[in-house]
Amino acid sequence: MNEFVFAQPVRLYFGAGRLDTLSDILKELGVSKAVMVCDPFLRAKAEELRKKCPVIMDIFSDVEPNPQLRGAEAAALMARELQAEAIIGMGGGSTMDTAKFAAATALSELPIDVCYEQARFAEKRLLVIAIPSTAGTGSEVTQVSVMSRGEEKKTINNPVFMPVAAVVDPCLMLTVPPKTTMMTGLDALSHALEGFWSVNHQPICDLYAEEAIRLVLRNLERSFRDGQDLEARSNMAYAALLAGLAFGQPKTAGCHACSYPLSQDYHLPHGEACAFTLDSFVQINTSPRMEEMLQRAGLPGGSVELVSRIRALKALAGLRTKLGNLGQVDVEKLAEDCAVHPLMRNNPVKMSPEALKSMFEALS
Ligand code: NAD
Repeated sequence: MNEFVFAQPVRLYFGAGRLDTLSDILKELGVSKAVMVCDPFLRAKAEELRKKCPVIMDIFSDVEPNPQLRGAEAAALMARELQAEAIIGMGGGSTMDTAKFAAATALSELPIDVCYEQARFAEKRLLVIAIPSTAGTGSEVTQVSVMSRGEEKKTINNPVFMPVAAVVDPCLMLTVPPKTTMMTGLDALSHALEGFWSVNHQPICDLYAEEAIRLVLRNLERSFRDGQDLEARSNMAYAALLAGLAFGQPKTAGCHACSYPLSQDYHLPHGEACAFTLDSFVQINTSPRMEEMLQRAGLPGGSVELVSRIRALKALAGLRTKLGNLGQVDVEKLAEDCAVHPLMRNNPVKMSPEALKSMFEALS
């Protein structure tokens, strides 16, 4: 067994209807002034919560998918002007990451662009309370914020981004449309598998990964077919949380490395971009250790069965699976860009540009 360090500093409040107690949770956390960050879809829910929680002084609701740094800057300004102690990010990964970046920079002397370019953050920062509205990114338990500036999309991994608490209420996820449900659910599955595969894997995270894989494979199709199935939504919310814990320390590997060029150059949403190569990497990264884990996770057919389950889920939601679906693709450049992404170093099987090119060509 490798040496490892494990820390999980986020206070978790989980359960259907938990959001109704937000006021008590904020009191318990000692927060007396907060701003809420969300995307336009969740604005009405944010207004509703604000009526019940006078501690929420204002709402910033301009977060877009692949969130821009300028959004975090505006949210940070709002929080600073209101002298807030905390930023509550209620939404998908885009929103939680915006809240994290805003909270880390709101009290900083440095311009936000310098923080972004140099990953430099001041000691003084605001608390983050994360409320996920998709079952996918696990951002509620990670020290990661993924922000874009113009066309550039950057992942910054820094302890300053760790939320102080997360409120995970599956009721908030009942409205997620089927395709988004599938994309975000496959993102969670990628997190669990990649945390397990990572060259930095460790035994506690492996346990989370195994349970997350088991839960996703039992509940993702159910929540895709019936978004109102609260039991399936709850299991997926829990799976995404566990998957976040599974990759938080080992970090992700090949699929996430490839997802960056696929999102940036071919505009695939994050979950779809991860899913694009997930079945390929299951085949590439198979090992006796993984086959044993898959048996425990309820897949008697091991990685062969997992590949066909992933393909069936992608087909069910009409996700793109072929290079031809992406428009004009420069495979050589795509393979080069994936090969040099830092997360590719975590993949257990070393992937040269040539090996990645063959992998992509097999998808034509
Ligand atoms: P998202 O936050 O971009 O949201 C996708 C869409 O779903 C949006 O249109 C949003 O309005 C909608 N939506 C969200 N919740 C909804 C709900 N309850 N009902 C109806 N619609 C809803 O998507 P995401 O997949 O959650 O997040 C993706 C982002 O997170 C990417 O930028 C990705 O890079 C990042 N990410 C971060 C981490 C991390 O640890 N910080 C991990 C993985 C991914």
